[in-house]
Amino acid sequence: MSAPSRTALLVFAAAVLAACATAAPVSGTATPLSSPAALPSPAAAPTAPPTTPPTTVPPRPRIVVLDPGHNGGNARNLAAINKQVPDGRGGTKPCNTTGTQTDAGYPEHAFAWDLARRVRDKLTAKGVTVVMTRDSDAGVGPCVDVRGAAGEKADADAVVSLHADGSAPANRGFHVAYSEPPLYPAQAGPAHVLSADLRDALRTGGFAVSDYIGRDGLSARNDLAGLNLSTRPTALVECANMRNAAEAALVSSADGRERYATAIAAGVLAFLAR
Ligand SMILES: [Zn+2]
Repeated sequence: MSAPSRTALLVFAAAVLAACATAAPVSGTATPLSSPAALPSPAAAPTAPPTTPPTTVPPRPRIVVLDPGHNGGNARNLAAINKQVPDGRGGTKPCNTTGTQTDAGYPEHAFAWDLARRVRDKLTAKGVTVVMTRDSDAGVGPCVDVRGAAGEKADADAVVSLHADGSAPANRGFHVAYSEPPLYPAQAGPAHVLSADLRDALRTGGFAVSDYIGRDGLSARNDLAGLNLSTRPTALVECANMRNAAEAALVSSADGRERYATAIAAGVLAFLAR
């Protein structure tokens, strides 16, 4: 949100300069009128009202969709979540999945839901309008194609899906996935920038990039329907490997989730400020 503020300051500065310029004719009027050269002089111009008065640039409303992965009711509604839906590349895939969990049983859907609410509160505090793809952790779905359409439906500037991975116990680190090859303009460039901003913010927050997938914390994917179907800048954050003991402890603690939320909100705000 710093960009609009800078713009406002520049507009204010321009207004001040314009006001200073209008002072010039005071001395200009001291020029003897008998001097014909004084009349057409450009020095007289500032007395005229500006042809285009300074306009204030209102800050653009910012809208972000947060998409907490999976849902608490998915495991009890397998028929619904196994329904095939478009994957965005001509095929189909299940509506949704149950997600993973830590060895101690802390589920990914609960992590994603808690994290999303924390990120939402941080963004809302900065004036961002946040739309969530689900409103509780007790429902079913929504399907990945509905999640993929959420950005356009909300007219969002950015969409961030929140997940955690379930990989081999020795693997660790976060990665940010984006759709590749791109299917819409927003996937070609803006989604890469959003992904890199999230990666940078997580790294700044003290989190290590994945040592088992992607490259430098980023992962190009062609199989994630929510990314494939999105016409808005969209990234999917796999915050940690929930099967790794150290990262399981991190995602299972409120302090850990707060750290993730702080970093992710910072990444989103960095993207919005561009
Ligand atoms: Zn997931």
